[in-house]
Amino acid sequence: MASIKEKTRGQLIIISGTTCAGKGTIINKLLEKNPNLELSISYTSRPMRTGDIEGVDYYFISQEEFEKKIDSGDFLEYAKSQYDCYYGTPKKELEEKLASGRDVILEINVEGAQNVKKMFPETILIFILAPSMEEVKRRIKARGGENTEQIIKRFENAYREINEINKYNYVVVNDIVEEAVKKVEAILISERCRVDRIEEIFVENQEEILHEFLMGKEFDNSIKPLDK
Ligand code: 5GP
Repeated sequence: MASIKEKTRGQLIIISGTTCAGKGTIINKLLEKNPNLELSISYTSRPMRTGDIEGVDYYFISQEEFEKKIDSGDFLEYAKSQYDCYYGTPKKELEEKLASGRDVILEINVEGAQNVKKMFPETILIFILAPSMEEVKRRIKARGGENTEQIIKRFENAYREINEINKYNYVVVNDIVEEAVKKVEAILISERCRVDRIEEIFVENQEEILHEFLMGKEFDNSIKPLDK
């Protein structure tokens, strides 16, 4: 018998993806199924859209308030979108969650993902792709709330981000949402088994077991730390 003690610090997971790739749906399903997983809620200066909920989708603040927070060093990273809106990841809350052993998802753009990766190299970077741009068009229309210019910018941004996929560790196509969720869960399970996640390995002392076996004694099943 052998057992391992994992590092207690939570895992940091970044989920990015093209517009309307269904990141939110995948994340919600992951959160429902994995109680140790939490979503970091970003701050933004973009106006609320229909369906947005304060404190659930984002903390919505003005540009001035956002800039004050930048000056106070409240963000781990922040980015300004092509539509001139700020988005930022709150630093203190994230640190506290990770230190308490919670796994945390950041749903941020490619630029933010690169900045976080520099600060936390062990971050798991996952990119979600919509099955086709035709499907993206359909989803944007169904969602509504944006003018043609904004939609064009979304498309341009999507193509720009797809070209940066090589900066990610994993890519998942969201064709059938349940399948995409399963794939992300499989990634997270594999990442938990990485050797660099292990703090200590415990195995029985083989010599002692062999000796007791030869002497006809019962096996001693006590687990002892492996010499490092
Ligand atoms: P949306 O306006 O559609 O909610 O989000 C637009 C983009 O901003 C998405 O690509 C999303 O991942 C990104 N985003 C959301 N929060 C953050 C954040 O805190 N930091 C960065 N860098 N990007 C973010």
